[in-house]
Amino acid sequence: MTKKTFYTDALAHPIFEYILKAAADLHLEAYVIGGFVRDYFLKRDNKKDIDIVAVGSGIDLARAVAQMLPGKPKVQVFKTYGTAMLRYKDVEVEFVGARKESYNENSRNPVVEDGTLEDDQNRRDFTINALALSLNKADFGNLLDPFNGLKDLEAKIIRTPLSPDITYSDDPLRMMRAIRFATQLNFTIENDSFQAIAKNAKRLDIITRERIVEELNKIMSSPVPSVGLILLHKTMLLERFLPELTNLEGVEDVDGQKHKDNFYHTLEVVDNISENTEDLWLRWAALLHDIGKAPTKKFHQTLGWTFHGHEYVGSKMVYKLFKRLRMPMNEKMKFVQKMVLLSSRPIVLATEVTDSAVRRLVFDAGDNIESLMTLCEADITTKNPMKFKKYHQNFELVRQKIKEVEERDHVRNFQPPISGELIMETFNLKPCREIGTIKEAIKEAILEGEIANDYQEAYDFMLKKGEKLGLKIN
Ligand code: ATP
Repeated sequence: MTKKTFYTDALAHPIFEYILKAAADLHLEAYVIGGFVRDYFLKRDNKKDIDIVAVGSGIDLARAVAQMLPGKPKVQVFKTYGTAMLRYKDVEVEFVGARKESYNENSRNPVVEDGTLEDDQNRRDFTINALALSLNKADFGNLLDPFNGLKDLEAKIIRTPLSPDITYSDDPLRMMRAIRFATQLNFTIENDSFQAIAKNAKRLDIITRERIVEELNKIMSSPVPSVGLILLHKTMLLERFLPELTNLEGVEDVDGQKHKDNFYHTLEVVDNISENTEDLWLRWAALLHDIGKAPTKKFHQTLGWTFHGHEYVGSKMVYKLFKRLRMPMNEKMKFVQKMVLLSSRPIVLATEVTDSAVRRLVFDAGDNIESLMTLCEADITTKNPMKFKKYHQNFELVRQKIKEVEERDHVRNFQPPISGELIMETFNLKPCREIGTIKEAIKEAILEGEIANDYQEAYDFMLKKGEKLGLKIN
């Protein structure tokens, strides 16, 4: 008989006591499995999703538990998956019957039949996710670890319980999950697994884009996202869903003139920004800020390598990319577009900081000015310590200027002090082109600093401008 090791302290939450009782009443075995057990051993924040496997009907067990719980919470049943879910106190508990799975080539949804706990552990993606603790009277808290998952947790290794080639080919989403866990936990993907992912990369195409993006977003939300992005690239998964990014890889050399590798530069920018923000969309902006560089790259005899208009082209590409990946087409997408479009503006300022240029920047960036500065600072990846220091100092100066200009001129979310109606009234006009011309001229004069952002100065300016256009005062 194998030695038993008990971890009852992992099961301190009152829900486990109820599951133990309900399972005994139904004469079936129950185990807690997967992420909850893994995170207990990793001492990660105590996890709020609990996965229970029952050798028998998971749905019956869920219903029996709900009957015993104070307040008898509602059980949500997902018939197609044979699972049931309930909420109790601070946890969400999912119940499933132990199952055996077999796959066919065109779908990641397996044919399922009832199985033993061992069958159920075999179908799990990684050894560290196959750990189970018994919720049965005879051996409450006993660890069932048939694939040495605990050892892999200690050695920080991602390994599949069965053949990696079959595991990834059966359900290619596991390739994304492997890389996601490696990134979140700072683990290494064991070599056979890594090779199998590279071999099966093309199979990712059967996975829905929503599921891919869900994993990608978890990678992007990790402390050092480049860990996952590099793994995705090396296994050739990245090019399957983000070719705009992998197209940035490489350095071209014409007559000894080289440009930087914009792919690896981008990864550095993403890591830099992740030290300063948790905002997923600002991290996305960092990821996409240079995508316009691949289609705009040209070599010019006197100027060297140029990427004219890459910010504009890049911001258009953001729209297509979000659409293709079925990402939100709302203000999040617009924010990323705006960041990409404006991504070079503060850099120009860092060499010459004029009031009018700062005013224009604040006007164009509006409430996103802080995010834009964070992006531009992350964009400094020079390895020359003198330059690094200088660029940061310049941006510090830009930030100061922004503050000064903001306090004085109030151009953030600028509302013109003179309305179209007033222009019409003053010059007795019906709707016409001149109204727009005057409004634009007032805005320009304010941004250029010719007049203050103030009603009286703008009014006088309007009168002069109207006169120049040959308009008569009413
Ligand atoms: P997290 O909540 O941090 O993402 P988790 O491990 O709880 O981690 P879930 O997606 O909730 O992740 O999955 C619960 C468990 O179900 C996993 O621990 C694993 O055992 C199993 N599992 C999930 N997805 C798969 C899959 N595609 N293939 C095989 N097993 C899977």
